[in-house]
Amino acid sequence: MSWINDRAPIQMKYYILFGPPGAGKGTQASAMVERYNLHHISTGDLLRKEIKAGTELGIKAKTLIEAGSLVPDEVVEGMIENEFKTVKGVDGFLLDGFPRTLAQAQALDELLARNGSEVTAVVSIMIPDEMIIERIRHRATIEGRADDANVDTIKNRIATYHRQTEPEIAYYDAKGKYYQADGVGTIEEVRSRIFDIVDKF
Ligand code: ADP
Repeated sequence: MSWINDRAPIQMKYYILFGPPGAGKGTQASAMVERYNLHHISTGDLLRKEIKAGTELGIKAKTLIEAGSLVPDEVVEGMIENEFKTVKGVDGFLLDGFPRTLAQAQALDELLARNGSEVTAVVSIMIPDEMIIERIRHRATIEGRADDANVDTIKNRIATYHRQTEPEIAYYDAKGKYYQADGVGTIEEVRSRIFDIVDKF
């Protein structure tokens, strides 16, 4: 009997990059992907692709995104499942912008459990609210995102984050999976705080 054939499959890692809008998730995701051989899934990027392509989903999502509201849970859950199924050759996935509601967090747990897996860790980048507006307004001048250009939209995104997304902290903390990195500092400083957390897994 061969040990190689009997070896347990390597456990895929599922990291969630958590934090308010503008915390620097996209920036830090690139560094993590490279260091840990992960596939980056940004639900915001996937939705923006749909908008650009003018799909039915994109047309529906556009209005919600530009108002600073969330798109329906089923829409993003479907996108995530599709990525899990189609992407091969990585050691794990880095979820950025998902889950964003407790219902999405529960759906993710169920989806992973069905495949004999689970969330590895939630890495949270924390910045104070005052800094969110400053960072997003700066990004607006670089990336030209419609939802970054309007202060009322940004304020609604912050409110949406506190109301719908922040409750996930207690959810994952209760499971012993929540890790927080201070998001204030240079890109390199924040990156090394994140690596200190993720290197342990
Ligand atoms: P940011 O991190 O700056 O808020 P994202 O690119 O992650 O930006 O998301 C942009 C917008 O896309 C959100 O404000 C929301 O409308 C929509 N969106 C992204 N991810 C989700 C999700 N998991 N559930 C619902 N809506 C989402």
